[in-house]
Amino acid sequence: MDEEHHYDLVVVGGGPAGSSAAFAAAKNGIKVALLEKENSIAETVRTSGVTWIKNIKEFGIPDDCFNPIKNFSFCSPNNEVMISDSVPRAAVLDVRKSYRWLAQQAKESGADIFLKVNVNNVIKNEEGDIVGVRGIGPNGKITFHSKVVIDASGFPSTVCKAMGFVSQWKRFGAGAEYEVKAENVKSDTWWLMVGQQYSPAGYAWIFPLGNNIVRIGVGVGKPESDVDPTQRLKELMDSKVGPIKKLGKLTPIEFHYGLIPNDGLSRDTVFNNLILVGDSAGQANPLVLEGIRYAIKFGRVAGKVASEAIKSGKTDKDALKPYEENWRKAIESKINSAGKVQDRWIGLSDEEWDKELDIIKELNSEEFIDFIKAEFGLSNMVKLATHHPKLAVRQLFNLVKGKK
Ligand SMILES: Cc1cc2nc3c(=O)[nH]c(=O)nc-3n(C[C@H](O)[C@H](O)[C@H](O)COP(=O)(O)OP(=O)(O)OC[C@H]3O[C@@H](n4cnc5c(N)ncnc54)[C@H](O)[C@@H]3O)c2cc1C
Repeated sequence: MDEEHHYDLVVVGGGPAGSSAAFAAAKNGIKVALLEKENSIAETVRTSGVTWIKNIKEFGIPDDCFNPIKNFSFCSPNNEVMISDSVPRAAVLDVRKSYRWLAQQAKESGADIFLKVNVNNVIKNEEGDIVGVRGIGPNGKITFHSKVVIDASGFPSTVCKAMGFVSQWKRFGAGAEYEVKAENVKSDTWWLMVGQQYSPAGYAWIFPLGNNIVRIGVGVGKPESDVDPTQRLKELMDSKVGPIKKLGKLTPIEFHYGLIPNDGLSRDTVFNNLILVGDSAGQANPLVLEGIRYAIKFGRVAGKVASEAIKSGKTDKDALKPYEENWRKAIESKINSAGKVQDRWIGLSDEEWDKELDIIKELNSEEFIDFIKAEFGLSNMVKLATHHPKLAVRQLFNLVKGKK
């Protein structure tokens, strides 16, 4: 007989969004199941794990889960810039440790975690609304009945696709990365590398993790470029171009590959009895395609709103709406502005990138971080757009402020 379970809330996907949703919901006193298809949380790493110390502190992620960064280096074919900070504001996460910590938080709050459960279908009631999911578990077919489902399955968006609400992302980033041991590493300095040689629509990176370990990767925008990021990464590592050369001998430890949506905030994220969060909702900063902090932040909001709705006995779209209102208010306009900068960056030639780095050089560390985080509202972007002596700088920041 098929295995059957009954929960108030089922969360599909044990990534940062799912674990955070399960944590907030269980903490609010409802019965939560968190379903993950892999053998363990973060068994496969699909991310470079860069995020921001301010957010890490807000989330309570422990200090031994990340390597702090205070120097931000950029290179283009014929230009280089390093923006240095007095204190570290960025970080490279130990992804497994951090994601497992998030899942542990959910477990300690009372959520049941089911591993090796691959969700492949939904259960609907007579009205066609979702009331659970089905999948294959360690012992065969498995069914979970629930009042609300949170789709935190990431890029594949398994649940909302099975409901027929969405189709595959059309615009997305594909990234390949080697975690390697390197001879010479400055553990507080990251590198972003731009221009055709590195990536025709995207960028390459070196992100240090401490102990002479770095993640070297290449991200390519699809469908803008048909370059295979894995192939390009191998070429860059073999020919040791740019700052990769400075790392000396490289000994690969692990390979990572992943896809991230880049279709803007195009999806509805609440339906009757269903919430989408994290990559399944397309919640990523398009400038550098980072989504971890949004996944955690809005995962918690999703868990809170879902659990409140369940407690009130009303779980339709209207009851779940506060979740969508919350995240749209927080990031929609920033993401839209960042999308404009991304459109500009995707079209730049090598020579134009060289000039763009001259603009980036004009920023101090705080302005740079606000810019790259798409936190435009918090910085003095208006001042830069209005008063900066260089026309090119004014043009870039006018773009952010929505002017031509
Ligand atoms: C190459 C690359 C580099 C990146 N670098 C950064 C970065 O430096 N910083 C940053 O902030 N963001 C980065 N991102 C984006 C970031 O990884 C995502 O935004 C973030 O992981 C989203 O979290 P999530 O929980 O929504 O999805 P995921 O992290 O993808 O988690 C989804 C989980 O659901 C599970 N799952 C999927 N389908 C099913 C199913 N059918 N049944 C059960 N479980 C299922 C998966 O196994 C996985 O554990 C990068 C992305 C890529 C591709």
